[in-house]
Amino acid sequence: MSLRIGITGVAGRMGRTLVQAVSADSRLALAAALERPESTLLGADAGELAGVGKQGVAVSGAVADVVGDIDVLVDFTLPAATLANVAACREAGRAIVIGTTGFTGAEEAGIREAAADIPVCKASNFSTGVNLCFKLLETAAATLGEESDIEIYEAHHRHKVDAPSGTALSMGQVVADTLGRDLNKVAVYGREGQTGARARDTIGFATVRAGDIVGDHTVTFAADGERVEITHKASSRMAFARGALRAAAWLSEREPGLYDMQDVLGLRT
Ligand code: NAD
Repeated sequence: MSLRIGITGVAGRMGRTLVQAVSADSRLALAAALERPESTLLGADAGELAGVGKQGVAVSGAVADVVGDIDVLVDFTLPAATLANVAACREAGRAIVIGTTGFTGAEEAGIREAAADIPVCKASNFSTGVNLCFKLLETAAATLGEESDIEIYEAHHRHKVDAPSGTALSMGQVVADTLGRDLNKVAVYGREGQTGARARDTIGFATVRAGDIVGDHTVTFAADGERVEITHKASSRMAFARGALRAAAWLSEREPGLYDMQDVLGLRT
């Protein structure tokens, strides 16, 4: 039997791409599609919305009405919506894949608490390439980190609402963890004016928002006389969608707990 997938934020950039990815995978069935309760698209066919033809699934505005029909909910929306969906999945005993970014520390803690009861896979970036980069960053930080200045650059499309990107923050976290630094203390978010000389321990973040850039990330390790740059460039949202659905299939066979894409890909050491 196919795995029953629910997609929320189905009219969004990621939501539409997820519907396309589900319709292309015979192991998966689109079982529910959700949007904001006030959306004008409620009742529309989710497949037609995503340009893949009728799927026989009408867009709903109430997660409680459909959560019983699915095995895993895939959520790329906004933090407030995701938290409500986590609560609905917890209530119904369903797994959830979370791609939404921009949570506060308290919101992260709430998700961690819900994961005591249901399987949750949350990742700031579901692409396989970015998750490989996380591993490469560990190696680079362990080898070069103490002798180099570390700067993280990210660029995204003009519609993105949070900065720096969740992926850039995750990259900073990997580097900070590897070097035993507290990211909250060493992160520098943008520079302007008389900043003074750079402190060696800092990890700098630079953000660009422009055009239709899907997602570029570069981490630079700049030492005296040489530098290493680890770069990932996403050219299509399909990389995130396929990764999120791979996570959904993996999660459907897991015990309750909080997982990420490193777990799904078997990259955690
Ligand atoms: P988007 O604005 O195009 O889509 C978000 C959709 O969520 C919209 O259609 C909106 O109407 C809908 N929504 C809002 N509130 C809702 C609610 N209560 N119920 C149902 N739907 C609701 O945004 P996007 O570019 O698709 O990105 C969405 C999120 O995913 C962002 O946080 C982004 O940073 C993140 N993202 C993560 C990854 C990853 O790999 N983890 C990749 C891309 C984007």
